[in-house]
Amino acid sequence: PTLAERDHAILWHPYTQMQTAALPIPIVRGQGAWLYAEDGTAYLDGISSWWVNLHGHAHPHIAERVAEQLRTLEHVLFAGFTHPAAVELAEKLLAILPDNQGRIFYSDNGSTAVEVALKMALQFFFNQEQPRRTIVAFRDSYHGDTFGAMAVSSRGAFTAPFAPLLFDVAFIDVPVPGREADTLAQLEAIAAQGDVAAFVFEPLLLGTAGMLTYSPAILDELIRCCHRHGILAIADEVMTGFGRTGQLFASHYLMERPDMVCLSKGLTGGTMALGVTSCTAAVYEAFLSDDRMKTFFHGHSYTANPIACAAGLASMDLLLSTDCQASLARIALTHKQFAQEITGQPGIRDVRHLGTVLAIEFAVGEHTTYFSGLRDQLYNLALARRVILRPLGNIMYLMPPYCTTDAELALLYDVLRDMHQLVLT
Ligand code: PMP
Repeated sequence: PTLAERDHAILWHPYTQMQTAALPIPIVRGQGAWLYAEDGTAYLDGISSWWVNLHGHAHPHIAERVAEQLRTLEHVLFAGFTHPAAVELAEKLLAILPDNQGRIFYSDNGSTAVEVALKMALQFFFNQEQPRRTIVAFRDSYHGDTFGAMAVSSRGAFTAPFAPLLFDVAFIDVPVPGREADTLAQLEAIAAQGDVAAFVFEPLLLGTAGMLTYSPAILDELIRCCHRHGILAIADEVMTGFGRTGQLFASHYLMERPDMVCLSKGLTGGTMALGVTSCTAAVYEAFLSDDRMKTFFHGHSYTANPIACAAGLASMDLLLSTDCQASLARIALTHKQFAQEITGQPGIRDVRHLGTVLAIEFAVGEHTTYFSGLRDQLYNLALARRVILRPLGNIMYLMPPYCTTDAELALLYDVLRDMHQLVLT
């Protein structure tokens, strides 16, 4: 049997059982923006392998730093002990995060980074005279697939089997252009009830909902509303972090600052699973002043794994280099030019772009029909062109690694043009 057949016999992959191509594509090597299959076929990775890969595959700088760390210290429990990579990465993160962030808590992935933030917020208020239990989130958001993260995510087919066990969340509408005032009024009304602990949001760009964008001005208003009511504002920058939106963090487009930030995906440049929840010194200190416990009830076996932290440090070196910053600007500009070309054309409902993310919404059906026939057609068209893209229903998006060249971007746009033709016919 082939590798794909051996896989197919025993492995369980996420979100693909219903997909048309029954056998997975065996990938044996990666370099730059390309992934190479067992039979030698090269695939251009147009979505950075689920939005994680920043600097291209198997980058030598990250590989060397990780190998060195593996030979020096592979792991140590993070209760009562520490190590250089954890401290250095935390220092580097605090140097670039919004300047009110003062503490770093490590976990394992994006879902747990959010889970930790929610638990921190709830325990923060549990420690106070008047505990608060309500969490507010955007109705169409995606924050992960653990129970807490599912609870604050959009409710639909994905969460239906678990819905009765998910805690109640006060959902407000995404403040898409024209709806800003409604969203603010919804948050004001819920906040006035006095029980809201936290508002968790994807800043400026809701990924899984279909790369929906909204303005920094309304997010500033929402955060101001939170702060008037003593509510903790949690920015889920799992997708938007590390340059994706054109700034190091989407929060840097804001005047106001979030109280907590959740990070993962690009944190290690797409090499190792690692999550971070940062918070202000005030949040941290509230735990110290608690007479009962003085600890946060959360911790993982692999908390602050040295290899993952080393990968994070190496990725950060690359991200902050002038080459990488120039690349970010170049991709943003090229996306903008392509967006101008197709905006307003027949068959296109909307075009959205922010930094290195570009999304086209075709005027066919709704993106909520995630596993629609159209989705499969678009997916297969891309694969036939040797490009990896994953449509969100009728929405196609690009989120390439930052090393993607102009010629490679041109290929991605070509595939989008073909998709547009397919939708028109
Ligand atoms: N938050 C956001 C905004 C995300 O996009 C995702 C993943 N798509 C998550 C959280 C969950 O991250 P992970 O898949 O690493 O658990």
